[in-house]
Amino acid sequence: MLDSLQRIVQEVSSAHDLDEALALIVERVKASMNADVCSVYLSDEARREYVLMATDGLRPGAVGRVRIPFGKGVVGLCASRAEPVNLENAPDHPAFIFIASTGEAPFHGFLGVPIVRRRKVMGVLVVQQREQRRYIDEEVAFLVTLAAQLAGSITQAELRQSLDQMDVDDLDTLFVDGVACARGLGIGRALVLFPEARLDSVPDKKLGLDLDLIEAECSRFRLAVDAELEELKSLAARMGRILSPGDQALFDAYAMLLGSDSLVNGTLERIHAGNWAPGALRATVAEYANVFEEMDDAYLRERAADIRDLGGRLLRRLHQNKDAPPVEYPERCVLVGEELNVSQLLDVPPERLVGLVSVRGTGASHVALLARGLGIPAVFGVTGAPLTKLNGRDVVVDGYSARICIQPGTQLREEYERLAREEAELSRGLLELREEPAITPDGQRIHLLANSGLFADINAARDSGAEGIGLYRSEIHFFLRDRFPGEDEQTATYARVLTSMAPRPVTLRTLDVGGDKPLPYFPIREDNPFLGWRGIRISLDHPDIFKTQLRAMLRAGAATGSTDGLSVLFPMITMVSELDEALELLRQAHAELVEDGVPAHFPKVGVMIEVPAAAYQVELLAKRVDFVSIGSNDLTQYLLAVDRNNDRVAKLYDSLNPAVIGVMQWLVERARRAGKPVSVCGEMAGDPAAALLLIGMGIDSLSMSLGNLLKVKWMIRSVPLSVAQALVADVLGLESAQQIRAAAEEVMIAHGLAGLVRPGQH
Ligand code: PEP
Ligand code: MG
Repeated sequence: MLDSLQRIVQEVSSAHDLDEALALIVERVKASMNADVCSVYLSDEARREYVLMATDGLRPGAVGRVRIPFGKGVVGLCASRAEPVNLENAPDHPAFIFIASTGEAPFHGFLGVPIVRRRKVMGVLVVQQREQRRYIDEEVAFLVTLAAQLAGSITQAELRQSLDQMDVDDLDTLFVDGVACARGLGIGRALVLFPEARLDSVPDKKLGLDLDLIEAECSRFRLAVDAELEELKSLAARMGRILSPGDQALFDAYAMLLGSDSLVNGTLERIHAGNWAPGALRATVAEYANVFEEMDDAYLRERAADIRDLGGRLLRRLHQNKDAPPVEYPERCVLVGEELNVSQLLDVPPERLVGLVSVRGTGASHVALLARGLGIPAVFGVTGAPLTKLNGRDVVVDGYSARICIQPGTQLREEYERLAREEAELSRGLLELREEPAITPDGQRIHLLANSGLFADINAARDSGAEGIGLYRSEIHFFLRDRFPGEDEQTATYARVLTSMAPRPVTLRTLDVGGDKPLPYFPIREDNPFLGWRGIRISLDHPDIFKTQLRAMLRAGAATGSTDGLSVLFPMITMVSELDEALELLRQAHAELVEDGVPAHFPKVGVMIEVPAAAYQVELLAKRVDFVSIGSNDLTQYLLAVDRNNDRVAKLYDSLNPAVIGVMQWLVERARRAGKPVSVCGEMAGDPAAALLLIGMGIDSLSMSLGNLLKVKWMIRSVPLSVAQALVADVLGLESAQQIRAAAEEVMIAHGLAGLVRPGQH
């Protein structure tokens, strides 16, 4: 039965529309269960009825006509109870209603199971038998399992159908939920990018001895190489504004490979020998990559991946029909893809890009990090968005409520535009706070710092009133390369960060990869990566990588001559011994540098509290360091056991959950008892309502994405500390995140901050 179950689910998921999906379901289920009838009823919310949508066994003419009111009949019973109804003789049941038009008089045995998606009953899947019989447990289990799996496919098919029927000029508006990866509202037109051809599946094609054909293929290939070289140059120039010169090394490496004889001449030779350009390219890339793969030197071995990637880029160019117009980016472009990547984002002229939508990918992906750095709203994980139908449609990327809106009607669009205008006005209005201190009306000073990882946001941080960088995510520098950066390279990067911000302080966090942030050149395959090898655990297991980074950080501090500008922060500490080991390696790195004559100061050191075990031992940890920094993103994830990037459980992920607030309050109190300053550097810090609570708890500084800094400053300058403290005391007794948010927002509104309170914002 498992076999037929999987087969049915697979077939249904590839159905093009709802009718096809439902027809497949009823036919296959009836056959697998040897039933006399199989039917699907779906709910019509507006009319509060279940509609017979497909049947194999009842009269076909009844489809679409038979409607059963909610709560009526055995179908209604099954839906309202949201559980299977298994009846030996359905007509005997008091809820049974007879509908002659279905032609179902002769049927007795009845099994209905609800079709449920995300807690909502969407309909009922029914099988019926001519004779009187109760379905056995195994059959009930089969149908229940099938219905659970089909719910998603039915929704998909429904979406595909509603989009099919949509006119570009607008019929119905459609919302699709995802995970917000960069906040803000982007209103524009969708440009859908489809997966590109794979180089290794390109076939050979003989050109014969036709010299004209051979020459045409050669020039097609040369044109592709020239175009790619040009493209790399302009990409590198565009990246220059965002990345450090070192981070651009990838582009230089590609350009060098293209300029080298082997790849280009090797391909041309194969074309002359009679293969078409894509086939010749595939064979040359394979040969050339193999040579590198055989090399002893690890760095050179890694070049094989570059060659394959470059081969893929050239193939795309060869496949481009030269008569086809170049990609036209809409004036307000919402880039949509199965899994967007960095170069697709960078290909769009920056002034045209207003939003990003990706079916796969998470908030921790490169593209998401870039989107946040560039201030472009992004919603990922929109598994319900049928890509093939989106191109050219109006789309709103709502990075506040984590969803996209396809084809907003006139009114809705106006509403979104109004919100976007307000957002822009608010940001403009807040600009005058840039130079003002973040001080509460009753005199409590709070330090507001920026989270960063790209050069673009460091420049912006400097100009936007941030008092320093409270969290520099050093792994971003590692992501943007094709291998571990060396000590000199890292030193240059960190020195640039420190100098750009000087004299303002910078907290450099040591490498935090693993979990949802794998490095492309250091693959870690684990069943449970969030509970696996990540953050400090990798660093301690690889003192080679870790000490290189620590030395680079200290050398950068020495090079910029700042005595207290540099702090080092350790991520994902779970046990006291880990902190002791990390501190020991830092001391060693420092001693070695001093021995080598480098005038390195010992930096301030912070510990991140983002694992519940570390929260519990915060006093012991705080004693060993200069400050404590709470990583509320991971702390929330681990306290609630909710994957921070999984759209299925996204609704459960809320840092205002009473348990999170309670633990935070508990740990802030203890860290302060140890006499150490406490900061928060997770997303909570940038959410004005959450920040209000954090201040009430006694937090000294908040580090956040830049876009939120002035909003939080406005909040701090408006609400007295005493009010924030009273609020914390009040919310500690509340039962849900919603109640806590409402209480915080009520205080904000009472202090003239209605502009920061927006329904559906979180
Ligand atoms: C956090 O976990 O809150 C944090 C700031 O670290 P990251 O988001 O980089 O994991
Ligand atoms: Mg973290």
